[in-house]
Amino acid sequence: MLTAIEQVDEAFKRIGRIDKVIRAMASTLEVSAKEKAARLGDAHDSNSPLYGTPVVIKDNICTLEGKTTCASAILRDFASPYAADVVERLEKAGAIIVGKTNLDEFAMGSTTENSGLWPTRNPWNPDYVPGGSSGGSAAAVASRMVAHALGSDTGGSIRQPASFCGVCGLKPTYGRVSRYGLVAFASSLDQIGPIATNARDLADMLGVIAGHDARDSTCVDEPVPDYAGMLTEPFGKPRIGVAAEYFGDGVHPETRKAVEAAIETLKSLGAEVSEVHLPHTPYVIACYYLICTAEASSNLARFDGVRYGHRTDAPKDYFDVYSKSRAEGFGAEVKRRIMLGTFALSSGYYDQFYNKALRVRTLIKRDFDQAFQKCDAILSPTTPTPAFKFGEKSQNPLEMYLTDIYNCAANLAGIPALSIPCGHALDGLPIGLQLMGRHFDEGRLLQIAHHYQQATDFHEKRPPICA
Ligand code: GLN
Repeated sequence: MLTAIEQVDEAFKRIGRIDKVIRAMASTLEVSAKEKAARLGDAHDSNSPLYGTPVVIKDNICTLEGKTTCASAILRDFASPYAADVVERLEKAGAIIVGKTNLDEFAMGSTTENSGLWPTRNPWNPDYVPGGSSGGSAAAVASRMVAHALGSDTGGSIRQPASFCGVCGLKPTYGRVSRYGLVAFASSLDQIGPIATNARDLADMLGVIAGHDARDSTCVDEPVPDYAGMLTEPFGKPRIGVAAEYFGDGVHPETRKAVEAAIETLKSLGAEVSEVHLPHTPYVIACYYLICTAEASSNLARFDGVRYGHRTDAPKDYFDVYSKSRAEGFGAEVKRRIMLGTFALSSGYYDQFYNKALRVRTLIKRDFDQAFQKCDAILSPTTPTPAFKFGEKSQNPLEMYLTDIYNCAANLAGIPALSIPCGHALDGLPIGLQLMGRHFDEGRLLQIAHHYQQATDFHEKRPPICA
């Protein structure tokens, strides 16, 4: 068993070698990580699976060490005065934070092309996007710089990059994990979750980060089950619903083939598979993008050049402080979302757009309530296609938004969802399988994923850059 120091040294060696190409890290925390590792010495704690383990954290989650930039020029020099609840819990469990990872600015995007720092590259092929917005975390794990990362998922930002990079990612139930110290994008949708190479590591991480925190009023006081222990319970005959609406015309033939093969594997393990319907799926993207932009326009009002981050040089007057600081600090996509959200909330349009989106959200949630009467988990591709090339969709925001089609409903309904690798396209790019579950049923999703991974080896495949 490696000591904390050996593990941390190894992580920095790999980051040093691989990150020159992949650029997953927004910053590294070498001094504090090595200090902490030295403090742990060669002790081991068999009750804490993450003891001495290097972890990377998406750079919209506050750490005391280093900066928390959200990959935005407006927070370029922001050093948080407090650590997020998840960071405190990880450190208490003996995990060592070795760096902060790149993302689309304020977690708005699906490729890391919106990062104010630089784009992160897909470890399977650097011409392709790693997905987003937690693209840095997914790429760091895929290229084995570290085995554990945290991301945040507002509309797929853990699952979609996990799928594009061939790793596993879990968005927990809304309220399962405290959002204290996560820089808010859309507060009713945001959730922090783990990214790792297999279901066991996801379970270990969720066990550490889940739990009640009075500092997030939406964090639920619900006992945290022994997720790792649940993995190895007998598979039984879980009822898996295949979401008919998630296999539409836009699904890439190789994605369809890989997901259908996964269904056969699950059947051979004992799963009872049937078709289920989520009839409001065609409204998911419109509903999500109205709600998330409305909430973003409100949440991002705090970046005003007065309290946080960048302030313009030599403003003419008070108004200039606000408008120039924001014009200089935010990137194009963040501005687009603030404007869309401000419009959706403006008087005269509020009922037509925002209020209507809230009603549709209720219908989408009801689809899931009905589907879960017939099944225990809902299966779909994580994304309609494998990763695409840089620039392929970035000129057309609507086309980009549509790639989130299978991801946003879980956030709107507040249910847990995970993505695991289930194959590779002909050009070698990974394909992901999504499982969505009932509220607080993460244990069952992880168990299904674990049994699938006992029978398959897609999660063990490494991109050539790891060699
Ligand atoms: N791609 C989605 C968006 O751009 C998801 C973002 C997220 O989950 N943070 O909003």
